[in-house]
Amino acid sequence: MIPHIHGLHHVTAFAGPAPENDAFFTGTLGLRRVKTTVNFDNPYVYHLYFGDEVGTPGTVMTHFPDRKWKQGHRGSGEVAVTSFSVPRGSLDDWEARLKGATRIEVFGEAQLRFPGPDGETLALVECDDDREPWRALPKTMGIRGFHSVTLMIADPRPTLDVLTAMGYAEAGVEGTTTRLTMEAPVGIIDVMAAPDVAKSVEGAGSVHHIAFATPNDETLLDVREAVIDAGLKPTEVRDRNYFHSIYFREPGGVLFEVATLDIGFDADEPVETLGEALKLPAQHEPLRGELVNTLEPIPNLTLE
Ligand code: ZN
Repeated sequence: MIPHIHGLHHVTAFAGPAPENDAFFTGTLGLRRVKTTVNFDNPYVYHLYFGDEVGTPGTVMTHFPDRKWKQGHRGSGEVAVTSFSVPRGSLDDWEARLKGATRIEVFGEAQLRFPGPDGETLALVECDDDREPWRALPKTMGIRGFHSVTLMIADPRPTLDVLTAMGYAEAGVEGTTTRLTMEAPVGIIDVMAAPDVAKSVEGAGSVHHIAFATPNDETLLDVREAVIDAGLKPTEVRDRNYFHSIYFREPGGVLFEVATLDIGFDADEPVETLGEALKLPAQHEPLRGELVNTLEPIPNLTLE
């Protein structure tokens, strides 16, 4: 049993050029860029966080955008679909707004599937969700946060076992997809069996990892011990400034992170101006001059 997991915390993907990435997630999808920083493990690449007003866990899609990335190839061992929650009755407005959207129904819920700027598959699911959307779009259509993610896994049993150990329970099967749920603000994960699908190749549009929420450092250490007891290999605890994390790869190939809920994006700037200044962790502050000259300009960002 891996304790203290409270649903999804964030989803992180590779992306193409930063201006296009920013324009799509803030402009088209109407999320707020709540943090502009760099990949702590590769500071020459941005790390852009998009979510609700404060970047509440469960709303935050993050990207490592880089013009140098080739587009990834979808396949098994990765996240196939990242789904956001939108109000009932809003799909007509979204369909008019999005290019290439297809309306389908999954586990009884109407949704629009559409390609993101790097060919990734995104979805908007109509459901009851009283979370407050960011104010960029009318409240009648604004994204509430994540609805779920869909993992595409060649041999799903070991993945389902890990998720069950993390507190998820099987809630239904539709075709080749098993739905797992837990009591949490974002408590749905779908696992699609794809035994004949070639392994994914990472690139722009590929989800790098999904992060699960845990309350604090103490519970994170408990999670880490339990992950080791489950025969998996977690990293040491990493300081991500806005949360503390561990990472481990689940048996189906998807990188899982477990991130704490107790810090937040207002740790180094006020809520009113979140995302408008380049924020660097202390270890990369000496690179600021160089980064200001090499990172691509994006709107509403003071590079200084
Ligand atoms: Zn992460």
